[in-house]
Amino acid sequence: MEVRVMARVLIEKLTKKFGDVTAVDSISAEIADGEFMCMLGPSGCGKTTTLRMIAGLEQQDEGDIYIGDTLVNDLPSKNRDIGMVFQFYAMYPDKNVFEQIAFPLRMRKLPKDEIKRRVKEVAEMLGIAEFLKEPMSRLTVDQKQKIEIGRAIVRQPQVYLLDEPLTNLDAKLRVHMRAELKRIQSELKTTTIYVTHDQLEAMILASRIAIMDKGRIVQYDTPDRLYERPVDLFVAGFVGTPPMNFVDCTLTRDKDNYRLDAGDFKYDISDMAELFEKSSAGSELILGIRPEDLRIAERLTDRDAIEAQVDIIEPLGSRMIVNLKVGSHYLKANTRAIPLQPHEKVKIILDKNKIHIFDKKASTAIV
Ligand code: ATP
Repeated sequence: MEVRVMARVLIEKLTKKFGDVTAVDSISAEIADGEFMCMLGPSGCGKTTTLRMIAGLEQQDEGDIYIGDTLVNDLPSKNRDIGMVFQFYAMYPDKNVFEQIAFPLRMRKLPKDEIKRRVKEVAEMLGIAEFLKEPMSRLTVDQKQKIEIGRAIVRQPQVYLLDEPLTNLDAKLRVHMRAELKRIQSELKTTTIYVTHDQLEAMILASRIAIMDKGRIVQYDTPDRLYERPVDLFVAGFVGTPPMNFVDCTLTRDKDNYRLDAGDFKYDISDMAELFEKSSAGSELILGIRPEDLRIAERLTDRDAIEAQVDIIEPLGSRMIVNLKVGSHYLKANTRAIPLQPHEKVKIILDKNKIHIFDKKASTAIV
């Protein structure tokens, strides 16, 4: 494909209200040239509205949008040089694949030769070149989805905007198309903004993810940082499957010994004393540990081991999810498959380097 100008996208203090509902609440973010950025969050958090404002399909109440160096606030959608793929898009069943992909170019009255060349290039890239003469109605769902992508990339816009494009696909196709999208984007290196509520999809695709909640961006970071250093309870609980375990505790101090008291067990954190001396957090805390950072002890003498009882086991082939009861607390461990029985008593160890501690009241991360 030919070399094209890439563009960063900058949104500044973008706000949109629908009556009393603030759908998007003063959000700012920079999406770098060539970046694959995902907006991730639960239903109703404002992802689609943000994307529609960038696309020019919705007018913001406040804030600015730049594509490249151009302030596009007042530019109509068709002049913003973007390619969009939405969940449902009108396809014309009678048209053949070639015409379907060529449509955006015909609209722009490009020369016939150029249309032919570009459609062929895109079709080869997507692996659908052999279907160009087929009517749309004969294609499978994933082929149709590829054509949808083809229509968006054939114009070679500066930015792609995608809103849950894989939602309609069954699980297997989803996995296939997810990998295809990643490959296409890494080849084209075109700035991409992708909306999803599926955290796994975002983690796999994105170079950076903006996690949204109630119209705001809570954290905008690389997938690794979001996973390892979530800024608050919302992000910690949203990223990762199964989700992070949370345990309510109280911070207790006896001279230089700091402990988290969870009622049914105590956990020594004296080596983190400095953090708590500096912190303004109260004594009500939440201990967070990911299921994969919770080990079922092999030697019962491990110093920090906590007594637990096996509840239900969810086998996953070479690994398994073990549901554990520690007094009144329920915890999940994601471990390699080991012989365990329900009701068995075991000891568990939390990886000290991987624990998270949150201020319960503020919901923010301390560790
Ligand atoms: P979903 O994944 O369910 O689409 P989302 O994160 O994309 O969710 P938005 O669709 O942007 O969220 O909606 C954000 C809020 O704005 C919601 O409360 C929604 O009901 C409201 N909203 C969105 N569009 C409109 C509209 N045209 N009129 C009124 N309210 C709207």
